[in-house]
Order: sequence, then C-alpha cells, then structure tokens
Amino acid sequence: MLRFKSLGSGSSGNATLVQARDGTTLTHLLVDCGLGVREFARRLGQAGMLADQIDGIFITHEHTDHIGSARSLALRHRIPIWMSAGTYAAIGEPDLQGLLRIARDGEAVTLDDLEFTPFTVPHDAREPLQLHCTDGGARLGVLTDLGHVTSHVLSSLGGCRSLLLECNHDPDMLANGPYPHLLKRRVGGDWGHLANGVAAGTAAALLPGGLRQVVAAHLSKINNHPALARAALAGALGGAPGDFPVADAATGCEWLDA
Ligand SMILES: [Zn+2]
Ligand SMILES: [Zn+2]
Repeated sequence: MLRFKSLGSGSSGNATLVQARDGTTLTHLLVDCGLGVREFARRLGQAGMLADQIDGIFITHEHTDHIGSARSLALRHRIPIWMSAGTYAAIGEPDLQGLLRIARDGEAVTLDDLEFTPFTVPHDAREPLQLHCTDGGARLGVLTDLGHVTSHVLSSLGGCRSLLLECNHDPDMLANGPYPHLLKRRVGGDWGHLANGVAAGTAAALLPGGLRQVVAAHLSKINNHPALARAALAGALGGAPGDFPVADAATGCEWLDA
C-alpha cells in the first residue's frame, strides 16, 4: 500500500512524505525538506511521525524552498540523502558524512519496500530531478518546479495512478500582478513554473495511463488561487473542482492513498 502526504507546498517550503506499507513494515521517503528544523519537526509530528522513521531523503533541486534543513536532518538522524550531482555541486558539496547518494535520471532506487525513479525536468536549477514512486502496486508521480512539460516527463510519469502536480500560477494573475517584469518572465518561462492550464493538460495526457488522482501543489500565493487551480483541473479531467485536493503552504494535505 502506498500513501503520501505533503507537509507543505509552495515557495515558502516543500516537503512530501511517501509511505509504503508491507504488512506491519513501513518505509518512508521524504521528498524535499524546504522547511526550517523546528517547523519541519512540528509538521512531521502532526503527520504522526518521528524523524527516525524516515528511511531516505530525496532532494529535487537546490532552491531554498526544497533544500531547507535537509542536511541537518540527514546528519542528525543518519538518513541517506539522494540528489543529482549537479544539485550537490550547487549546494557547495558539503560534507554529508557518507550519507550522500547520487541520483540519476531513469535510475531506479530501491529503499526497502519502496522504489523511486528520478527523471530530469526543465527548471532553472543546476540539474533538477522529479520522481515517481511505487510499492510494486500503485504508482505516485511528483512533479513540481518545471517550466514546461517534455516528452521525457510525460513518458516518465506513464502509469501513475496519483500525481502531486505543480499548478503554480494563473497566467492573467501573473501578467497583471505585482512581480517585476524579469521575475514574471522567469516564472512564466520555459525554465520556471507550470501554469494551471498547462498542468491540467499534462494531467489529462496521463489519463489513458491510469491516472485517477491529482493533488495541486506549489501554488503561488500571489499569482494563483486554489479555486482557479481546481477549476483548471476539473475542466481538463472532468469531475468537480472539489475533487482535487490542494497541498497548501501551511499544512500541505492529508495522508492520501496513491
Ligand atoms: Zn520550488
Ligand atoms: Zn525551484
């Protein structure tokens, strides 16, 4: 059985728990740790977990909202931490005391009862990766922080039943909002973040592969509104806007079956 829970999502900090259950054995992967030490511990506690239950950490890229307190968490609890060689270089190659594992596009990693596979995405970081996870049954895709969707992204996510999907901005809100011109271009550009409509179209393209659940994530506080993201998803996928949970900045989302 595969479950997941966002502990928080957006430019103020991202962290997602993925849990595989086999009988009474639980395996946990933490995807990104973009929160401070205390805040992460508080939210982990609210999710009913202790840091010692985390079996592995996967860092998607070096932006602060993803890397946060990952290093101190890994060192304090002796948790192996995966990231691309480029991400490791971008954070200054800190001493990770033997816990560093280099993640590569398309190379599956087995972590007890959970397997995860990173894949390359276009984003303005050194070597960003996103991933899909499986317990051998269900498959979950995690896709945040990318400027556009490539055929490689789509083929990597084929067969996912659930998707945690970036719905970063509404193009009109971004265009008419307070961001400086250059930042608008960065966010809306090919190496920035996904607009609601593009995200929804991406999810629709994955429907034939068996996609059944989409959780909107990494919403901009300034350039988006949960209702707009939900409406875009409902428009492309069918169903009602309320069928689509939103992982927000303060609390993420509930534990969900993948
Ligand atoms: Zn981000
Ligand atoms: Zn980023």
